[in-house]
Amino acid sequence: MLNTLRRIVQEVTAARDLDQALDVIVLRVKKAMEVDVCSVYLTDKTHCENVLMATDGLNDEAVGMVRLKNSLGLIGLVGEREEPINLANAPLHPRYQYFPGSGEERYHAFLGVPIIHHRQLQGVLVVQRLTKKHFSEDKVTFLVTIAAQLAGAIAHAEAIGGITGLSGDTRKERGVVPLKGQSGSPGVAIGTAVVNYALANLEAIPDRSVGDVKLEVNLFKTAVKDVRKDIQSMLERMQEVLPAEDRALFDAYLLMLEGEAITGEVIRRIKQGNWASGALRETILEHIHAFDAMEDEYLRERADDVRDLGRRILEKLRSKEPQKPKKFPARTVLVGDEITASMLAEVPIKRLAGVVSKRGSQTSHVAILARAMGVSAVMGVDELPVSLMDGRSIIVDGYTGRVFINPSRTIREEFKHLLREEAELSKELRELRDKPAITPDNIGIPLYINSGLLADVTPSRKSGAEGVGLYRTEFPFMVRDRFPGEDEQFQIYRQVLKSFSPAPVTLRTLDVGGDKSLPYFPIEEDNPFLGWRGIRISLDHPEIFLVQLRAMLRASAGLNNMNLLFPMINSVAEVDDALRLLRRAHHELIDTGVSISMPHVGVMIEVPSAVYQVRELARRVNFLSIGTNDLTQYLLAVDRNNARVADLYDSLHPAVLRALQQIVDGAKDEKTPVSVCGEMAGDPAAAILLLGMGVDSLSMSAANLPRVKWVIRTFTQRKAHSLLKEALTFEYAHSVRNFLNAALEDAGLGGLVRAGR
Ligand code: PEP
Ligand code: MG
Repeated sequence: MLNTLRRIVQEVTAARDLDQALDVIVLRVKKAMEVDVCSVYLTDKTHCENVLMATDGLNDEAVGMVRLKNSLGLIGLVGEREEPINLANAPLHPRYQYFPGSGEERYHAFLGVPIIHHRQLQGVLVVQRLTKKHFSEDKVTFLVTIAAQLAGAIAHAEAIGGITGLSGDTRKERGVVPLKGQSGSPGVAIGTAVVNYALANLEAIPDRSVGDVKLEVNLFKTAVKDVRKDIQSMLERMQEVLPAEDRALFDAYLLMLEGEAITGEVIRRIKQGNWASGALRETILEHIHAFDAMEDEYLRERADDVRDLGRRILEKLRSKEPQKPKKFPARTVLVGDEITASMLAEVPIKRLAGVVSKRGSQTSHVAILARAMGVSAVMGVDELPVSLMDGRSIIVDGYTGRVFINPSRTIREEFKHLLREEAELSKELRELRDKPAITPDNIGIPLYINSGLLADVTPSRKSGAEGVGLYRTEFPFMVRDRFPGEDEQFQIYRQVLKSFSPAPVTLRTLDVGGDKSLPYFPIEEDNPFLGWRGIRISLDHPEIFLVQLRAMLRASAGLNNMNLLFPMINSVAEVDDALRLLRRAHHELIDTGVSISMPHVGVMIEVPSAVYQVRELARRVNFLSIGTNDLTQYLLAVDRNNARVADLYDSLHPAVLRALQQIVDGAKDEKTPVSVCGEMAGDPAAAILLLGMGVDSLSMSAANLPRVKWVIRTFTQRKAHSLLKEALTFEYAHSVRNFLNAALEDAGLGGLVRAGR
């Protein structure tokens, strides 16, 4: 049964569009369960109806015609109850509803299970039999299992093909139903998708229509010929070292290339209008899925060979592409499986409107870069149909992490309106640039920016920041192929410190591990966020840590604007050890005759244990900095990068707010200044609460700074405190959000409400 299930899911995943996926489901499930009918109904949310979308057993003409209000019929009942309904004789059930012409009258036994994706009902999967007998428990569990697995595949197919036939024309345009990801960088972009892909990534190759079919076919044939030549010469080289049976793999490659199965299909697809790379992707993936679905393990593994072959042909094709400079439309939205910083750099800055990446999260390098550049970005869009996106019109909503493909006119108008509002808001915000961040009751809350890239420096300065509250040093480490040496690091830190001097800059020591890995220092762990990361690595590798500390200290010589910050502190012992090493590095430098003063040192409060030892920690250092990104993830046990649980991740969760208050109170008791440097600090609504708690400063992405300044200049601390007191009485995160949005509206900052959505 397990194999059958796996095969069906794989076939559905490989389907070209929703119709094909549904046809596969009904055909395969009917056969596997030995029933007389299998049908899929999908829920049309606009009209509150369940629509028969595919059937094997009922009359074909009924497809698209049978529509049942959600409150009616057995299908509606399955949807309402969100659980299986198993009936021996369905026509006797009070909710049974007969559709003339469907051919349903002959069937008695009925089993319907809901198809649910991310808590949302997508439809109902139904099997029926002529006999009057309940379905056995193993049939019920099989159907439940398959519906649960199919929910994701159906959502994916929906995203790819668009729902045609579901409710006439209204949902035909995908743009009504957005794809969900995570907000990577705030702002809205309306533009044209340009797919960018890594050279060897087959899955990410987009479809493109081809101008000269003959030329494209020839290009493909030459690529195949070249690959064949390469393999033949490999075969010759291997002749002496490999026995004949092991060389069979290369023979198999040659056979695949010579046979019609792959090449013939690619050429057929090119003739249908796709370019060679796109046609190759379609064909190779189809073969891979076919192999994957095989019972025999040996054959299943052949999928890897097909993929390898596909990549080889692709490489040849790419090398033959004319090297003309890439053209980017005026409002380019860069789309891809995994957008990298260098892909971003390829687009002329004036043309880059947005970024959408299937992988990655808010803390990905590219998201941080996008924020620094003021370009809206959505990350981790699981269901992004990358291969079909090139040239499509697209809306990127970087506030809420939504993407609209081929947006409808209404949606487009709505976003245009939002853009106009934004432009007005930005004008007002720009005027705040040189004004201080002081509340009307005269409390100064210095606003700093988070950075990690030299490229950040210009927009950061323009934003009116009073310095850098968090410089993430891992980025210079990430873009190299080995640990940077002391002098290399010195240069980087010096440049950052100098460009902000005399304003303060807080350099954080290396915080790799978790989701931030160094290509040359791989860490394989089952639970990376609970594993070897941040200060733990630094303390285990004093030879790396001391080099960094020395480079930082040297960089600060004569400038004296540097603060040091230790990440991921979990116990006082870690602070003691880190401080000992810092003192050692300092002494070593003093011994060489350089005069460097000891910087102010802080620890990040981002692990729950640190919340409960905040006073002990505060006593040891000069300042505390709250990392709400990690603190939220650890308090709520929600992976900050996992799109599946993204809805559970909320820094306004009452538990997080209480922890924050406890940290601030502890720091005040010890007279240690406390700042917030997680994303929360850049959320205008949350900033009210942080002000009310008595936080001393805030550090955020440059793009968010003007909005937060507006909040600080509008709300007195007294008012913020009374709003905080009330917010702390709420039990739900969304109630806190609504309450704060209302406060922003009341204060005449309604424009910020959208920004904080
Ligand atoms: C945080 O955890 O809130 C933080 C600022 O650090 P990072 O996002 O780099 O983990
Ligand atoms: Mg952190």
